[in-house]
Amino acid sequence: MTGAVLDVAGLEALVRALARRGRTVVGPTVRGDAIVLAELGSAAELPYGWGVELEAGRYRLRRRADRMAFAHSAGPQSWKYFLHPERVRQWTADRAQDGTVTVTEEPDAPPSYAFLGVRPCDLSAIAVQDGVLIGGPHVDDTYRRRRTGAFLVVVECVEPGATCFCVSMGTGPGAHGSWDLALTELHDERGHRFWARSGSAAGEEVLAELPSTPADEATVAAAGGSVERAAGRMGRTMPEVDLRRMLRDTLEAERWNDVAARCLTCGNCTMVCPTCYCTTTEDVTDLTGDHAERWRRWDVCYDLDFSYLTGGVVRRTGHSRYRQWLTHKLGTWHDQFGSSGCVGCGRCIVWCPVGIDITEEAHALHAESPAGGGEDGAGS
Ligand code: SF4
Ligand code: SF4
Repeated sequence: MTGAVLDVAGLEALVRALARRGRTVVGPTVRGDAIVLAELGSAAELPYGWGVELEAGRYRLRRRADRMAFAHSAGPQSWKYFLHPERVRQWTADRAQDGTVTVTEEPDAPPSYAFLGVRPCDLSAIAVQDGVLIGGPHVDDTYRRRRTGAFLVVVECVEPGATCFCVSMGTGPGAHGSWDLALTELHDERGHRFWARSGSAAGEEVLAELPSTPADEATVAAAGGSVERAAGRMGRTMPEVDLRRMLRDTLEAERWNDVAARCLTCGNCTMVCPTCYCTTTEDVTDLTGDHAERWRRWDVCYDLDFSYLTGGVVRRTGHSRYRQWLTHKLGTWHDQFGSSGCVGCGRCIVWCPVGIDITEEAHALHAESPAGGGEDGAGS
């Protein structure tokens, strides 16, 4: 039998073992009316006994009958807030009285992170951003510094939300991919405990230090059963078709007009999406003009300026901007990076102020496609 079983004290010991190694431990915790990702001083700050109710355009905390720490689905943030931050200062420039200008580069000096409570869908999202930001010829140094050596504790999902569809995207609810430790949380007649396995030498070293008991057959079977049941309780699904092809065949579908009439082009969906990666640069000065700074910040494809090219905006309408976002996410991302740009976390559904649902749009487009029986699906 692989792995070990930790109790709640073992989880606290895990946080202390990671902190002893100089790591900044980040995990879910309740702040205000949401479960957010924040630096944890103790495992006691985890959202024990809290769950969430999710729907399109709706997020509510709810008290649970048990003390589960990780029985909540994706919150408003993802790990990209730490790996690919929304604002990074790149350099400053100062003009002295004699007119000379000194430019000082600002090397990012991130902490050594340990991420506690990475959901399997978000683990896949990190892999997607790895491919985009460090997997090609143009390496993003900010991301590389933060990502290299980050210690990942993945927690398998046993309670998906009403907006989750990781099964459709092949990213969950079980842990797969690359991680240091994997946990599956159980809270049953045998108590509150975590089945823990290591996935790296660093994970093995940490696990060996923790107070634990050897994994027993009943715990492993119960953990497997919980994850299997979670797979059967996804709140949403994607059409079971080649989405890339379906979108290619529906570029002129009527549904784009329908969704464009609802979309505010606010860009919330890109902000919360764990795989969206676009950035722009901004130069600012102080009032004297003697101090200037260059910042990199997230950009969104819903902004008019995003597609500004030599004197004109390419995507002028909400129709064209929503279509760009969806067809990139589910279709052309495959051509560009060899995978889908969507991991099925459901955040874009929850945090869309008008409740636009990527799965509903995909089903509607499929219905208009030739494969879905639609008459009006021919691409142009
Ligand atoms: S497109 Fe939506 S569901 Fe897919 S990864 Fe992004 S936020 Fe999650
Ligand atoms: S789909 Fe929703 S969240 Fe995204 S830009 Fe449109 S209104 Fe905003």
